Amino acid sequence: MVAGTHHVSDRRPNILFIMADDHAAHAVSAYGSRINETPHIDRIANEGMRLDNCFCTNSLCAPSRATILTGTYNHVNGVQTLSTEFDARQPALPGLLQEAGYQTAIVGKWHLGHGGVHDPRGFDHWTVLPDQGRYHNPVFIDMDGTQRVIPGYATDIITDLSIEWLSRRQADRPFFLMVHHKAPHRNWEPDAKHLDMYPGDLPVPDTFFDDYTGRSTAARAAKTRVADDLRLDDLKRLLPPGLTQDEQALWKYQTYIKDYLRCVASVDDNVGRLLDHLDEQGLAEDTIVVYTSDQGFFLGDHGWYDKRFMYEESLRMPFVIRYPREIPAGSVGEALATNVDFAQTFLDFAGAEAHPRMQGRSLRPLLRGERVADWRTSVYYRYWEHDDGIHHVWAHYGVRTERHKLVYYYADGLGLPGTSNQVFAPEWELFDLESDPWELRSVHDDPAYTDVRRELAAELARIQAEIGDKPHA
Ligand code: CA
Repeated sequence: MVAGTHHVSDRRPNILFIMADDHAAHAVSAYGSRINETPHIDRIANEGMRLDNCFCTNSLCAPSRATILTGTYNHVNGVQTLSTEFDARQPALPGLLQEAGYQTAIVGKWHLGHGGVHDPRGFDHWTVLPDQGRYHNPVFIDMDGTQRVIPGYATDIITDLSIEWLSRRQADRPFFLMVHHKAPHRNWEPDAKHLDMYPGDLPVPDTFFDDYTGRSTAARAAKTRVADDLRLDDLKRLLPPGLTQDEQALWKYQTYIKDYLRCVASVDDNVGRLLDHLDEQGLAEDTIVVYTSDQGFFLGDHGWYDKRFMYEESLRMPFVIRYPREIPAGSVGEALATNVDFAQTFLDFAGAEAHPRMQGRSLRPLLRGERVADWRTSVYYRYWEHDDGIHHVWAHYGVRTERHKLVYYYADGLGLPGTSNQVFAPEWELFDLESDPWELRSVHDDPAYTDVRRELAAELARIQAEIGDKPHA
């Protein structure tokens, strides 16, 4: 697979894969964040490549993790929703790297079920949080099934345990280490060190007071609004008295976003610790370092927190990667990438065969700065939960090209919460991301977009057929 097209040394790289939970790209300064600085994550981008169009194929924790491990879409790996546990016996990246001679480990959030076939497989070492885990004094489950409480803050401890494993691995074989942070997942609990960050107010997104006109009913139906749906126990504060409705919404936003960013600051510090460790051990040249998140997140955009939707803020994954031997420093990749590609990318770098079931494509030539003439021109997305009863985000699928996005909400039988049993028909949205980057006005019924709409509908059907997913009947 690597073949003669790559000019590479025989040395197989180590792979350090650092993943946060719910860390949106627009809260990374390398991606132009208006609200925070992430100097250590930025360092990876500055010394390597930043991917600007890397997308998840289902904006939810467990489904994205299953995709990253297996290189398959969720209808293939079986983790369409949060209520399906992962069957870890299926062919996956860690086991394939292990067979290829890598030492493999995962530390931190697993979130794919526990016990029997759901435990991590293909790892020489694992120590993981049960389910979501705790921010403070977290419990860890070890390979022998024992559980232990480790005093301290989860993000620091996950890094400590990672460095500990790196220090005692066999130095003569390459490693693959997944460092999976719990942060900055809800409910956002910063550590003492970062509690005083952001004393003043932070910028509010332009779309914070979005009224959802111009979009499908699904946008109005969602119960993920900062103003109405973010609970005070998530914010761990009492609402100040005497605020108007808009002032309450802004107070909630400021409280939420500051705690979220304080959690991110700890993640960034700990990325720095890992980079320093590689430097100290003389491993920086030989190690691929990735920083990403399982999906994006709404940071008050459209008035929302949370994810699930195919809108840009939740669809886009931050993805920065450093590998001095192959990836030009300070480069930016524009090609359409997805989390389905990660497994094949790492296997390619490792000189190992991808499993025939895998459905992505190695990003390696793109990361090297090569042009790939037949690279994909669209990406597929499917959010499967038909309404989880809490967030009320309707199931949908769609396709995004460089410029356009077509989304189909097959929400038959669903209505707006609290409005009797009114039933809505399925709905479509089409966005022109060039003229409407914030996705405020669907042009699905605009006659000027008839051809675009037809092309995208055909592309959606083509991708579904290609990957073996079935349209909603
Ligand atoms: Ca997540």
